[in-house]
Amino acid sequence: MVAENIPEADDRMVVADNIHKHYGRLHVLRGVDLEVRRGEVCCVIGPSGSGKSTFLRCVNHLEKISAGRLWVNGQLMGYREKNGRLYELRESEVAAQRRDIGMVFQRFNLFPHMSVLANVTEAPVQVKRMPRAEAREIAMGLLERVGLADKAGAYPEQLSGGQQQRVAIARALAMNPSLMLFDEPTSALDPELVGEVLDVMRDLAEGGMTMIVVTHEMGFAREVGDTLVFMDGGVVVERGAPRDVLDSPQHERTRAFLSKVL
Ligand code: ADP
Ligand code: MG
Repeated sequence: MVAENIPEADDRMVVADNIHKHYGRLHVLRGVDLEVRRGEVCCVIGPSGSGKSTFLRCVNHLEKISAGRLWVNGQLMGYREKNGRLYELRESEVAAQRRDIGMVFQRFNLFPHMSVLANVTEAPVQVKRMPRAEAREIAMGLLERVGLADKAGAYPEQLSGGQQQRVAIARALAMNPSLMLFDEPTSALDPELVGEVLDVMRDLAEGGMTMIVVTHEMGFAREVGDTLVFMDGGVVVERGAPRDVLDSPQHERTRAFLSKVL
């Protein structure tokens, strides 16, 4: 593949080219290739330990990849390329790249000692140096959007898991990201709270956000996903329209996995 910076005008938001990741001797990602277009909702399924979380963490460079290239929004993550050689970016440069990518985890990871509003305004104020009044205005709009404007003054422990996860989504959106990564955002929730979080994600998708969503929610993947990726053993085994992958998987490993979870 070409080893050049991809222009911002490119239709592709994420390009993963032959990504490898080792943890010591453990070879977790074994050549992941994936492209996600702007505005695409890409759902990722696969057995536990197949490398889904590791891949997401590589996308925003929380993990350093061992080999391969990764572009997000036209930028080569973590490196600068010059005369065919790669040079590591400084931590501040990586942080700037990461600011463009929102991430929501299985555990909500809200700041427990801060109100809902403070959770959402923290990064824009501290990282972007946004005036507090402006950050509050944006935060209130986002809390409105996730249906929690009336909880702005509450603390995380006063909220249900579903509400906390909706705040976590609002907090990620406050940085106005180009790409949102979700790592099993509903897996830690009681079943009756899953729907409210998926509804917020569906709204986000309909608003045109580019999203990579690791999930076990096959209904969401089918209805909201533009593409569905099946990962196993550190590679993308199969990728296609959700309906095609779910109803007529092309690979035996996909069939075996789906027969267990559907
Ligand atoms: P998934 O999200 O698909 O369940 P993970 O990406 O979490 O899979 O993990 C893939 C493999 O990498 C597992 O064998 C896991 O134990 C290993 N792994 C993940 N993170 C680390 C780490 N920080 N150090 C060592 N091994 C890790
Ligand atoms: Mg995982």
